[in-house]
Amino acid sequence: MSELQQKILDMLMESQFWPPERMLEFQRSQLAQLLRHARENVPFYRNRLDPVFKSNGEIDWDRWLQIPIVTRADLRDRRSELLAAKLPPGHGPTKTFTTSGSSGIPVSIEATRLWGHANRAANRRFNRLQAIRPAAGATIAVADDNGDLLSVEYYFKGKPNPERPNGSGELVLNRSLPEARKLDLLQENGIVNLYDFPNNAEVLARANLIRKNSVKLEVVSCFGQGLTADQRALFQESFGARSFGIYSSEEGGMLGFHCGDSLRYHLNPEMAFIEILDAGGLPCGFGEPGRIVITPFYSTALPLIRYEQGDTAELQTCDCGSRLPVIGNISGRQDQFLRFPEGIRSATGLRQALLRENLDALAFQIAQVETFKLEIRFVPARVKKDINPDPIVTHIRQLIHPKLDVVFKPVEKVPLNPGGKLQRIVCELAS
Ligand SMILES: [Zn+2]
Repeated sequence: MSELQQKILDMLMESQFWPPERMLEFQRSQLAQLLRHARENVPFYRNRLDPVFKSNGEIDWDRWLQIPIVTRADLRDRRSELLAAKLPPGHGPTKTFTTSGSSGIPVSIEATRLWGHANRAANRRFNRLQAIRPAAGATIAVADDNGDLLSVEYYFKGKPNPERPNGSGELVLNRSLPEARKLDLLQENGIVNLYDFPNNAEVLARANLIRKNSVKLEVVSCFGQGLTADQRALFQESFGARSFGIYSSEEGGMLGFHCGDSLRYHLNPEMAFIEILDAGGLPCGFGEPGRIVITPFYSTALPLIRYEQGDTAELQTCDCGSRLPVIGNISGRQDQFLRFPEGIRSATGLRQALLRENLDALAFQIAQVETFKLEIRFVPARVKKDINPDPIVTHIRQLIHPKLDVVFKPVEKVPLNPGGKLQRIVCELAS
């Protein structure tokens, strides 16, 4: 660990117990630096931040809500204006990351070296709090750090680490490998911690259940989608593993992480200012769901000041002793909405177990292929097994729309989205 990362981690281990007033003071000092930097060096923000700047150059925090929200479309269409002409001392150099995301709008962000250190420190705090041993970890990925698709089965990333069972770097597995091969590689390399999207890890866990010599893991850490209570129980049953959700994004970095066995997330308020806003743009109260708007402090190369990343959540409380803010019910990261002439419908309440049992499937995906036609793609667990479609069709018509036709299509592998995620519900109608 670099000296800088250690310094940030030392602060994070302390700041998690700061009283809210002290945290707010810290956040405002971070925000003030970012705002001044953006106003001076980033064309996009030259006048956009005027509402909060007093004539003497001080910041009027009472007018914060008047700063316009930055959208994903802004990031896609006005990226060059969002880039900083120069960086604060000690922040560089920078690296570009492209993310396709589930929203379908691909965007590229520009991350500084300092941003990388800060995010790794936040990840280390999470590991310490949950007693996760990061050595002997594996990530399942679709592309390497340069965004190039993986052409090898696996590779080792980073410096050799004597703490790892094989003394190597971190194992990165190619996501397109058959599940059985992934499990072999985890076993051969003595991996005990897995990092993956929860829906993809679920498919792996189901394959592990029917494997002769099943793989045992300590922890499954999930990102990119919400980890559900069912998935958590499955990871325990299949791998004997604890599991946690990490709330992160390419744009915002490490935003939060699950608290223990709960499905609540503690935020990292030292990394980003996070707002949850109602339809009128005002902050939501506890338990009131709203849109998440983030301002990451370390994003100085491409500042995102009040950026809406497309998730919704609500403020909650936690009694574990940590003073870090808590959110829950994060949605918008997993399932797409289906579109009908009457409006959009979500598939919330879908009885996944009913589908899996009647299809005898390892994995499935529901795709809206025509307005009133759903295609259910599924990976059969066994070769010869009759499926029982009737209860599924009944359930889907009750839950989603009575006029739906449902067709069933066995596949070898459920297609992943461009970001490598398995999305359970997709709308494939032309927009
Ligand atoms: Zn907690």
